Amino acid sequence: MFSNAPDPRSRPTPSQALQWLLDGNARFASGRPQRPHQDDAHRRALTGGQHPHAVVLACSDSRVSVEILLDQGFGDLFVVRTAGHVLDRSVVASVEFAVAQLGVSVALVLGHESCGAVAAAQRYLAGGHELPGSMPALVEGVREHLDPEDPSRDAVSRHVRGTISELLAGSTLVREAVQEDLLAVAGGVYGLADGRITLVDR
Ligand SMILES: [Zn+2]
Repeated sequence: MFSNAPDPRSRPTPSQALQWLLDGNARFASGRPQRPHQDDAHRRALTGGQHPHAVVLACSDSRVSVEILLDQGFGDLFVVRTAGHVLDRSVVASVEFAVAQLGVSVALVLGHESCGAVAAAQRYLAGGHELPGSMPALVEGVREHLDPEDPSRDAVSRHVRGTISELLAGSTLVREAVQEDLLAVAGGVYGLADGRITLVDR
C-alpha cells in the first residue's frame, strides 16, 4: 500500500515530526521564527518533487496561517484547509494522499480559538437560523462533535477530537498507517492572541 511513499528509513519518526511542528510553533510564538526553507534556492531545489514531513488539516480562517505559525517553509507541510476543518470525502482523500503517496509522518488537526464554523454550529444548536447555500454542510460537520447539553463546553477542543475520530473512522488507510507506527495523529488548538498551539489530549 505504501509502495509509492518514500523509504520509511529516510523519513522522521512520527514523534520527531510532531516535535518539529511544536518547535516551530514555539519559535513563532516567542517572536524568534527562523523562517526556514523560504528562500529562492530552497524553492528551486523542490521542483523535482516534494517530501513533506506533516499533513496539517486546519481551518481556513485567515488568521490561522499554517506555515507561518508553525515556522515552516516550502516543501515542509502538506496543508488541507476547510472552514472549521470539516471533513468530506475529498478532504479525507487529501490526507490519505499525504500519508500514502508522500509518506508524511504526522497528521495534525488544527483548530483555533474563536472559530466561526464552531460558533455557527453553536448558534444552530441554540435554535438559530440556518445558513444559506451549501454552508449548512459546515454546521453539520461541527455540531455532532459538540456537547448537546452545553454546546459551549470545550467546543473547539471537542471539535478537534471529533474531527480526528471521524478521520480515523473514515479512513482504513490512515488507521493502518497509525497501527504500523508510520503515522502519528495529533490535535491542537491555536490561540489567536498568544500564537501558541495547545495539544488536545486524546
Ligand atoms: Zn475556524
